[in-house]
Amino acid sequence: MIPRKPIENQTGKKSKKQLSTHFTDPLKLLELLNLTPQQMFYSPEAAQDFHFKVPRSYVDKIQAENPQDPLLLQIFPVQDELNTVSGYTKDPLAEADSLFQPGLLQKYDSRALLLITPVCTINCRYCFRRHYPYDDKGHFWKQIKTNINLIKQDLSINEVILSGGDPLSLSDSRFSELITLLDSVPHLKRIRIHSRFPIVEPERINNYFLKILADSRLQFIMVLHINHAREIGPDNQASILKLYNQNIILLNQSVLLKGVNDNVSTLQQLSETLIENHIIPYYLHMLDHVHGSAHFEVSEKDAIHIHQQLRGVLSGYMLPQLVREIAGEKSKTPIYSGLSYAILSH
Ligand SMILES: *Cc1c(COP(=O)(O)O)cnc(C)c1O
Ligand code: SF4
Repeated sequence: MIPRKPIENQTGKKSKKQLSTHFTDPLKLLELLNLTPQQMFYSPEAAQDFHFKVPRSYVDKIQAENPQDPLLLQIFPVQDELNTVSGYTKDPLAEADSLFQPGLLQKYDSRALLLITPVCTINCRYCFRRHYPYDDKGHFWKQIKTNINLIKQDLSINEVILSGGDPLSLSDSRFSELITLLDSVPHLKRIRIHSRFPIVEPERINNYFLKILADSRLQFIMVLHINHAREIGPDNQASILKLYNQNIILLNQSVLLKGVNDNVSTLQQLSETLIENHIIPYYLHMLDHVHGSAHFEVSEKDAIHIHQQLRGVLSGYMLPQLVREIAGEKSKTPIYSGLSYAILSH
């Protein structure tokens, strides 16, 4: 066990202490895990291109001396990221086209997605926004009021999705301002928050944050991003339980990643662990084809095979939908329909 520094986050301000709970030097992490750069195919260039950043709680769950550790593979910058692979681009979802207004994405009916901040507490190597032309942080915040006014004018929107980056990167006071603004939009019913914080930096779920949610008239849904059962441990179980006890609906989305979770038993274990923690498996995403992530690709044929077997071993409500996001489509796209499933299963 790594000795943990106490974290002070009662005021909602990010203290220096809190920042120091992150690993930002890949070599320091390797030293801790007793691994060599050669064993890991470390690439400083990849780390330069998309910065290395991992919170302590996540590091605590990585196994030492295991270059194949599924948690380590998700965050470690490797030489494969430098490969140019055809079909892999810097903006695979063509989000630049859906941005009719900076910071606001409305691709789907009834839902609007607000980009709250470019900052994440962990940098995932397969992230589809790793090359996103984000401006400075302040720019995002300035857009928010304008965007909420646009949402006010569109009566068809009943759900706002907070995304980024990670919306919980905001300080509690900023987050509180944001929720107050959304509270005042009469036709909004719910807020969906996509965040990795509850899992990778569970201390973020402090009492002040919980009170902001409790004080709002809106319903909250949190979509966690967990790819492997080993990402869940006593520290974040406690935070998940706090959210659950406050009647927040908890969903999970995973990305199907080669070497991390591309087999039936790993995904079965993940769904079992999610349900034990009151989290409903929602989506299993195919990898977005973002430059630098091709080594994580699982073929559609393998994905369907895994998903079909999973269907055989899990209760229906434990089976995430296998989907891909296709630029320009009006919703996420299921990878196979009932019909092709029936044909494939013969
Ligand atoms: C994924 C996504 C949503 C939400 O889709 P659901 O299928 O409702 O989870 C909404 N807006 C955008 C831009 C998205 O990418
Ligand atoms: S947006 Fe999500 S996937 Fe991308 S780096 Fe942040 S937490 Fe990871």
